[in-house]
Amino acid sequence: MKIGVLALQGAFIEHEKMLSDCGAESFEIRQRRDIEQSFDGLILPGGESTVMGKLLYDLDLMEPIRDRIQGGMPVMGTCAGLILLAENISGGEKPYLGTMGFTAKRNAYGRQLGSFNAKADFAGIGSVPMTFIRAPYIESVSSAEVLAEVDGRIVAAKEGKQLAVAFHPELTESQAVHEYFLNFNK
Ligand code: GLN
Repeated sequence: MKIGVLALQGAFIEHEKMLSDCGAESFEIRQRRDIEQSFDGLILPGGESTVMGKLLYDLDLMEPIRDRIQGGMPVMGTCAGLILLAENISGGEKPYLGTMGFTAKRNAYGRQLGSFNAKADFAGIGSVPMTFIRAPYIESVSSAEVLAEVDGRIVAAKEGKQLAVAFHPELTESQAVHEYFLNFNK
C-alpha cells in the first residue's frame, strides 16, 4: 500500500515513520506532479492550517486533492489536517478542502491549555492515547459520524473513507489510528 503524505509544512515526517512501522510505503506530496502517480491514500498532517491551505492553492494542489477525495480516495487529516477537511470553520473562516460534514473550531482549547495528552475511547479501536497541540475540535457534525470525544468535545470523526482527528496519533506510541486508516483500503 502506498500513501501520499502532504509535505508542505508541519509534522509530516512522523507520519512517514508511523506508516513505515505499519508496513505501508509512503511518499511526500510537495508539488502538483507528485500526485500524478497512482497511490492508495492520503495523509494531511498537523501544522498550521492557514499556511497549508494557502500553499495548497498557490501550488495548484487544492483542486486535484479535493477531486481525489471526492472520488473515494481514503484520507486522514490530523489536527490542522482536520481543519482542511472541514466543510465549515467556526468564526467564518473560508473552508479549504471542505469534504467532510462537520464544523471545526480552531485553537479551540485556548493558549494555556494548548497542549495536553489524553486517553479516550475511539469507536472501532478502543482506548487510544491522544496528543493535542494547539488543537482544533469538532464543534458539530452534519453528515460525519463521531468516533471519539474528550471532555464532551468531539475529537475524531469519519465519513466514508475520510477520517479526521484533532490530535496527533503520529506523536504517540500507538499505531492503532494509522492501522484503522490503512484498513479503509481493504
Ligand atoms: N492550530 C493549528 C491550526 O489552526 C493546528 C495545530 C496543529 O496542527 N498541531 O492550524
